[in-house]
Amino acid sequence: MTFRATVLTLYPEMFPGHLGTSLAGKAAARGEWSVEAVQIRDFAEDKHRTVDDTPAGGGAGMVLKPDILAKAIDSVAADNRPRLLMSPRGKPLTQERVRELAAGDGVVIVCGRFEGVDQRVIDGRALEEVSVGDYILSGGEPAALILLDAVVRILPGVMGNVLSGTHESFETGMLEHPHYTRPQVFEGQEIPAVLTSGNHAAIEKWRQQQALKLTKERRPDLLD
Ligand code: SAH
Repeated sequence: MTFRATVLTLYPEMFPGHLGTSLAGKAAARGEWSVEAVQIRDFAEDKHRTVDDTPAGGGAGMVLKPDILAKAIDSVAADNRPRLLMSPRGKPLTQERVRELAAGDGVVIVCGRFEGVDQRVIDGRALEEVSVGDYILSGGEPAALILLDAVVRILPGVMGNVLSGTHESFETGMLEHPHYTRPQVFEGQEIPAVLTSGNHAAIEKWRQQQALKLTKERRPDLLD
């Protein structure tokens, strides 16, 4: 099954971006997933191809027009893929939501620009607002690339080593334990002895203790 992403944007040249490289790029070349960027401006009707207008009620900036954006959304074949809107007001993206999305057929993603999009198109097209963090980007495109990166890397067959995903931060409800590799001594610091002991039970126990300690220190909210 192929995971299909359709991204509605004023900057289609930003896709596939970094997802055209590395493991994601190779997986796309094998046909395991695809991303298609749709230019919202192609649905504008006037000769200036206007996509935005001033905010009702006044204030700074511009707002994406609902009529043009709705036409762009409606041009995407009706199917059961979730329709997302990248938005700082959205629900913060979690690994749990990423996993749910990766289990589906794909996504349709609307990238906002300017001050954002007219509320009536969010409501009228039932867009699910998704945030990638508590900061403001200049547009939804990098946020869409972050979401797609997180989804694509867990699609079956994309990551070389299937097991390497299972201990990861958030998958266990905790941050991950620290990693080490050769050389045995680096700038006078040794690899913790337990990791080279060959005792798998002791290694697993140490990793769990470290994960718990880090999570308590850095992200106690994850343990609540
Ligand atoms: N005026 C808006 C911010 C607009 S930023 C506000 O204060 O809420 C322009 C566009 O960038 C948004 O429409 C959205 O698509 C995208 N964007 C900005 N920050 C984002 C974030 N943290 N997560 C997801 N999308 C974001």
